[in-house]
Amino acid sequence: MKLLVVEDEEKAAAALRQGLSESGFEVDHAPDGEEGLRLARASAYDAIVLDLMLPKRDGWSVITELRKEGRGTPILVLTARDEVPDRVKGFELGADDYLVKPFSFSELIARLRSLVRRGGAARPAKVEVADLIVDESTQKASRCGQVLDLTPREFALLALLAKAPGQVFSRAQISERIWHVEYDGVSNVIDVHVRHLRAKADDPFDKKLIRTVRGVGYALDA
Ligand code: CA
Repeated sequence: MKLLVVEDEEKAAAALRQGLSESGFEVDHAPDGEEGLRLARASAYDAIVLDLMLPKRDGWSVITELRKEGRGTPILVLTARDEVPDRVKGFELGADDYLVKPFSFSELIARLRSLVRRGGAARPAKVEVADLIVDESTQKASRCGQVLDLTPREFALLALLAKAPGQVFSRAQISERIWHVEYDGVSNVIDVHVRHLRAKADDPFDKKLIRTVRGVGYALDA
């Protein structure tokens, strides 16, 4: 199991790293919030252990950013005793568990194992890109607060693109993920769906989000 530990205090970080490694976890460490966010975006972790008071970017903001991007990696927050009222805020923002410092190492391990077991995948992903909100728990998408009237396929297509802003999806990838069939290389069914999706999700609005990448496929940009 691979963990990301975001902790600025050197001694605490070293102890966490050593203890977690000895317990069989593979550990990456970030000494500040910016680096933590960068690493969390760059690789797939089973869980993130996150300190709240961090240089460059605090723990709250790391949670907010990751959840906004639709990343459901389980997050365990480490909080100092005098920050306890802030726990509520952490949960509202999308933390999954917390431990008050100083904590027992065996408890940390137990909590982490349970978090990883529960996984982050069950979290309904709500993604915000510019004025677009895609909520997979309600299967609804809106722009500027206006709910879009989409078919299930159009919604799935929009969600796929919105969950990875800027990433170009080829027709083959879209076909596999949405239609669960291999793309035959000639069919225009995807282009037709994108056209319908654009008519509802882009045309009525000033800012166009869906981008055609000629000869490749489609992307959604912020
Ligand atoms: Ca700290």
